[in-house]
Amino acid sequence: MQVTLADIHAAARVIRGVADATPLVPSPFMSARTGTEFLLKLENMQPIGAFKLRGAMNAVAALGDDAPGVTCVSTGNHGRGVAYAAAQRGMRAIICMSELVPQAKVDGIKALGAEVRTIGKSQDEAQVETDRLVGEEGFVEISPFDDPHVIAGQGTIGLEIMAARPDIETLLIPLSGGGLAAGIARAAKAIRPEVKVIGISMDRGAAMHASLQAGRPVEVPEFASLADSLGGGIGMQNRLSLAMCRELLDEVVLVTEEEIYHAMQTLYYEDRIVAEGGSVVALAAVLSGRVSPRGPVATTITGRNLDMGVFTRVVAGQDVQLGDVTVTGRAYEAAS
Ligand SMILES: *Cc1c(COP(=O)(O)O)cnc(C)c1O
Repeated sequence: MQVTLADIHAAARVIRGVADATPLVPSPFMSARTGTEFLLKLENMQPIGAFKLRGAMNAVAALGDDAPGVTCVSTGNHGRGVAYAAAQRGMRAIICMSELVPQAKVDGIKALGAEVRTIGKSQDEAQVETDRLVGEEGFVEISPFDDPHVIAGQGTIGLEIMAARPDIETLLIPLSGGGLAAGIARAAKAIRPEVKVIGISMDRGAAMHASLQAGRPVEVPEFASLADSLGGGIGMQNRLSLAMCRELLDEVVLVTEEEIYHAMQTLYYEDRIVAEGGSVVALAAVLSGRVSPRGPVATTITGRNLDMGVFTRVVAGQDVQLGDVTVTGRAYEAAS
């Protein structure tokens, strides 16, 4: 089973008017730095503050009226998306997550009318409760990334970018479970086969990167990260996103916590955009010289649902404590 361009066009019709048509804007700073046009697809402007509403809406819309409710394991944004989409359909939603998820994200989901259950220190532990809801209560689980409707929904970002800018040469896409990158790459390459798609993850706990290298799903230890939205495994029974990422991604690049920190500062000070660590990994990869993309380039600013305590420390150049990890702060120096 693979997600096709036709599936992504169908998803675009489902989400129209609610989760689509986010702005694609140039970053003058990144364009100057790279010497080519550098565009930002502002998914932080979605009603839930992240792109995950696209996939969640498409998946919830595909359910029958007799489903008692939906559930998922989520680092936050997928949970928000599922909560929002379920509320729109008048369906019950129970979101399960690990204790590593920032409180701001838990509160955000509750505010959308969903129930939240926090269990354990990893997504795998939260999964046990989701499995129980499915097995004992008949809930339907919506995977954050390994579901054809979710991947097709995320792929609508690729449709929108390529419709606006058919001349895009490189797409730099934040990469965790790979639903976003798989969907965007499927759409973009179906429209323009020569486009390069590069996935970007943080260097600790990059499950898709490890799995692509091993040729099968691999479990990696989870670490607290500024890019908390990129945490979690790809599922040992991964059906779709691993195969699609293997086929469609030209490269995967990893960035450090310090590089993510600097990229968050840069996007804030230079473009005045507030974005999560997981959103800025493409900027981190370019600013650190790990990628020198051919332009025009586009990246997805995937979400804005960050912990404001952490963000104000980053803006102020202070150290950030994440679990037992300290990210060393540095005041932002404007590029001259
Ligand atoms: C989920 C998420 C990602 C990664 O998407 P995957 O489909 O899991 O690869 C990136 N950024 C943000 C803000 C997210 O919520």
